[in-house]
Amino acid sequence: MFRAVLLLLALLAALPAQASETVICRVCANTGMLPCKAHGKAMLEKEHSVHFCSAAMECKICGGTLQVDCKSCRNEKSEAELAKLQKRMQDWRADRKLKVDDVAKGLPLMHLQTAHFELAYGIKPQPVGREKFETHPAMHLYGERLETLRTEFMKLLGAEDGELNGRLQVFMSRDQLGQQNLAPIVTQGLGGGKAVGVKSMGVLSVYCMWQEPTTLPDDEALHRNIIHNTTHLLLCNLAPSLHLYDKHVGWIDEGFSHWFEDKLTGKCTNFCYEEVLMQGAASFKGGRWRAPVRRMVDEGKLTSFAALAQKNTDELDFPQHAQSFALIDWLLTVHGGPKFKTFIGMIKAGKATRDALQAVYNTTPIAIDTEFSTWVKANYSPQEPR
Ligand SMILES: [Zn+2]
Ligand SMILES: [Zn+2]
Ligand SMILES: [Zn+2]
Ligand SMILES: [Zn+2]
Repeated sequence: MFRAVLLLLALLAALPAQASETVICRVCANTGMLPCKAHGKAMLEKEHSVHFCSAAMECKICGGTLQVDCKSCRNEKSEAELAKLQKRMQDWRADRKLKVDDVAKGLPLMHLQTAHFELAYGIKPQPVGREKFETHPAMHLYGERLETLRTEFMKLLGAEDGELNGRLQVFMSRDQLGQQNLAPIVTQGLGGGKAVGVKSMGVLSVYCMWQEPTTLPDDEALHRNIIHNTTHLLLCNLAPSLHLYDKHVGWIDEGFSHWFEDKLTGKCTNFCYEEVLMQGAASFKGGRWRAPVRRMVDEGKLTSFAALAQKNTDELDFPQHAQSFALIDWLLTVHGGPKFKTFIGMIKAGKATRDALQAVYNTTPIAIDTEFSTWVKANYSPQEPR
């Protein structure tokens, strides 16, 4: 009995002083806020997993905050927080209008800010697998796909958040006009031209593209294109930030992007080479490269590493793209991602490929040909489709 009284006294003492003064609101459980009912359960979850969504901000009831003020009680603190959030959202939307919509002047774009990406999205509705996706949920899907790629990238290399700089920007237009207007501005000076996509790589990390119908006929092709190019952004952005396309490491730059295309979609179909992009649907061996590389080894048709390692990203031919993919597959499979991160860090810091290979993998540009061929023979079948 005595103990129970003591316990009760202790509980009373622990209650905050104003608790007895505040009216308990059963409608909102005293939060002062109620969830906005205009979004549907599934979409509401998607909206909560991102920072800002321009489509959610069209909501006449909540303006994108996903909450409404509880009319049954007064809660000044939560009302002030809601007003602050509304202001931040409106500022962001105004900024996107000024810097993106007003520049693109093409078909309408939606905007999404996730934890690590800023996405402008205007792709026309198309099936994803067998499911039809409207533009708004499709934009969220691409936001999730970008975040997934980044998570896989960090996990593979054992990289920390602080090793990537700023928010990566991706622009996906439906029409060529939007692309031509946006690309030179958002990449800060690179052209738009006739290419499917333009990238700025390094600290400023931007990929600006349009869904050119011949090369990117469906969602699968579009997804793979985004993976290939965003992987370039991530690899270049990783500290120390530096673009790689003109550093005579085309085999690393392309090979690593191909490796993620293959890992996440099972095929490689994107080549960073202007002429190829303009040829229409470029393809090498149906995008499944393990067996063709095995046959290149068996037939003695590999490019010597010493020669391959001279080439820039846009100087690789199709077989060299496949060989680059396999070289990266070998390095990652046998030696793991963290060693590759050390290796690429040395290359970016200006170390010669020969010296970085020696330091990290204890091999040489001459010895690597035999080591790589031996591994390919043991691990790639000449017949398998992949
Ligand atoms: Zn209330
Ligand atoms: Zn949304
Ligand atoms: Zn709402
Ligand atoms: Zn590429």
